[in-house]
Amino acid sequence: MKKAFHPKKDQQITVQTYLSEFGSRLGPDNKPRNRPNPRCPACLEPMTIYGENRPQHDQVFSHLRNENPAPCPLRNSADHKYDFLDEAPQNSETGKSLRQDFFKNWEKHWEVMRTLLHSFMDVKDFISLIHEADRTRLWNRAKLSEWEIPYIFLVRKEWPPVKNKRDGTVLRKEWIRFWFDSRVRTLEDIWIRTQGTPRIIKARYSDPERGGVPGLNHLIDTDVIEIDTNLLESHHKKPHVFVIDRLKQAFPKELAN
Ligand SMILES: [Zn+2]
Repeated sequence: MKKAFHPKKDQQITVQTYLSEFGSRLGPDNKPRNRPNPRCPACLEPMTIYGENRPQHDQVFSHLRNENPAPCPLRNSADHKYDFLDEAPQNSETGKSLRQDFFKNWEKHWEVMRTLLHSFMDVKDFISLIHEADRTRLWNRAKLSEWEIPYIFLVRKEWPPVKNKRDGTVLRKEWIRFWFDSRVRTLEDIWIRTQGTPRIIKARYSDPERGGVPGLNHLIDTDVIEIDTNLLESHHKKPHVFVIDRLKQAFPKELAN
């Protein structure tokens, strides 16, 4: 990985910035320096620099060898399937009003997701995530806040590259995947375990040539994104008229006016 977390601060660093702050592996006496480990942004476990003795190669951060590693989506792509601990709740009044609020503000939710997807999100994916939320009664989860919804939608699915359906032009060539940071183990944890400062890890992968889902060897880079808990107050751009029409077709009752 090209970026990791600073050993002590929750701040991203590159191999270069790490080396300039903590020095190279060997000190002036030719003995290994006592340096604090950089940390993985997803699982916060210590990392090491791979290729430090071969400066002519790319130097990247990698997890320390460990027989029983902590679950980490940057080590094993299957380690990020979030679920809810509790059974799907019954429909409730708060759930009903959260769903109404979501539709009132859907353009903001759309914009947050689309921006994190480099401006390319298929409106069909957005619609099917709303249908899934209906099916799983997501709205009725007692502690859910409206600002969490677009982030839950982003971690719920894989975001493969996007092509123009008419002429096949590649619009976004990278495959994107999101996770909450390691404090979040189940979706009930988003607010509780993070004390209201959740982070999202965004990983970009190259598209596996022979199809299938990208793994670690396709990883291009990772970023840590601060979640905007005030997204409902911020200004947003109006979605494309095509997107608005498709959404109105899919949810005519909800978007009647
Ligand atoms: Zn990790």
